[in-house]
Amino acid sequence: MKTIEHWIGGAPAAATAPATTPVFNPATGQKQARVALGGATDVDAAVRAATAAFETWSESSLTQRAQVMFAFRQLLVEHEEELGRIISAEHGKTVDDARGEIVRGREVVEFACGLGDVLKGSFSDQVSRGVDVHNFRQPLGVVAGITPFNFPAMVPLWMHPIAIATGNTFVLKPSERDPSAANFVAELYRQAGLPDGVFNVVHGGKDAVDAILAHPGIQAVSFVGSTPIAKYVHERATAHGKRVQALGGAKNHAVVLPDADLEFAANHITAGAYGSAGERCMALSVAVAVGAAADGLVAALERKAREVKVGPGDAPGTEMGPLVTRAAQERVENAVATAAAQGATVVVDGRGLKVDGHEQGFFTGPSLLDHVTAGMNAYQEELFGPVLAIVRVDTLDEAIALINANPYGNGTALFTASGEAARRFQRRVRVGMIGVNVPVPVPMSYYSFGGWKDSLIGDSPIHGREGIRFYTRPKVVTTRWPRPAQQIAAGFTFPTAG
Ligand code: NAD
Repeated sequence: MKTIEHWIGGAPAAATAPATTPVFNPATGQKQARVALGGATDVDAAVRAATAAFETWSESSLTQRAQVMFAFRQLLVEHEEELGRIISAEHGKTVDDARGEIVRGREVVEFACGLGDVLKGSFSDQVSRGVDVHNFRQPLGVVAGITPFNFPAMVPLWMHPIAIATGNTFVLKPSERDPSAANFVAELYRQAGLPDGVFNVVHGGKDAVDAILAHPGIQAVSFVGSTPIAKYVHERATAHGKRVQALGGAKNHAVVLPDADLEFAANHITAGAYGSAGERCMALSVAVAVGAAADGLVAALERKAREVKVGPGDAPGTEMGPLVTRAAQERVENAVATAAAQGATVVVDGRGLKVDGHEQGFFTGPSLLDHVTAGMNAYQEELFGPVLAIVRVDTLDEAIALINANPYGNGTALFTASGEAARRFQRRVRVGMIGVNVPVPVPMSYYSFGGWKDSLIGDSPIHGREGIRFYTRPKVVTTRWPRPAQQIAAGFTFPTAG
């Protein structure tokens, strides 16, 4: 069976320890490879390679870095189908869905291609007599990314193009569930002309993460994953003096007002809830039906949930694939059972679904729960599966209060025909990314991605201008060029402009 190795210094690198963990094909339930579980020695090797590469890469010109990014972007275009199939085979999502994440990740590369403009500093002439001031930003050094299973291409692409284009070198620790996309991307970078050691991959789980958080050679850590691990990473890495951005979990509400087009809302909420089997941090997991919207909405959601085509991700026509692991499948099916026991109405029950020819796959069907209340586990927990909970409320303000009381604040959507309601909603809701008649409002790469509350630990959203700020440090230079022999008095009082 194939062993997926680290990628260090521009080439595959065998693990220094024998530990591995299996990588499954979720559609068949079969082990298809094993991946190295790296530790401190592997992380140290990657940091050494990245440190050596930083010496020259940080001195490369903006033009050279942009040329690598343009070439890398083109390779991502040419290999989109191949990379999509690699992702689908390890994650379970459909190939088209995987191609979607590659396209959204590629947008960050496109943003990085134009970095020369975004990195421009400012200049102030004659701030004092004969004195000018300018500023510029410099890379941090070696930076690391720790990423989740659900977007094995896109989430790392939120990080490394900006880190690398701003002159840093990078160590990626991808999810051990679907590790192959990271090595594929490393090979594309090599073909794009990125010097060896600028982009490195260390596979593994907690040991590799702990080694990254403590390594003195790493200046900053970008993390995306569940909230408990985001908090842990933030705490440990900041304790070791690193800059940290840590994006966590979510419970995203779609609010439907009575004036909304219910058919439109139900269509989009169904796609937002069950797309990628609900394994998206921007998945809609709660539909908040306001007043008279409820019965019509539930009927439409039920009809659409029953129509979702579940199957292997590489079969034409599949809309929803399996969950990533057997444990995830069991967790989601147990959550539906708990919801029923706690008094929710199971309108559509996805439990026990079998896909012909794929009986061992980690499938569960779409589940729709009505009359869910804020006290139930199905409302409180991030289920990260194809389960949509409906909460009924009387007013928009009640819906806003519900969302604001939730510990998460990643994304939310409002379906309405009222501009006044949309404006009130977007101004009052304590959530980072908001859609108005848009179910999954993932920002474009030139904006930044990040939630509020427990969906983002620390203060830095990811990519866009926030990404540039995160991966660079500012310098401000105050300059005076006196004429030869010009005398300028030096005072012992604190200098002031004049
Ligand atoms: P996870 O937190 O289990 O794993 C994320 C990373 O942390 C992986 O690389 C994993 O190897 C590592 N890790 C896991 N347990 C660890 C431990 N005990 N100590 C140190 N490192 C550990 O998350 P996941 O299951 O891979 O991904 C799903 C989660 O990610 C969901 O909660 C989802 O909402 C979240 N997510 C958030 C965003 C966002 O932008 N906010 C985006 C995608 C996913």
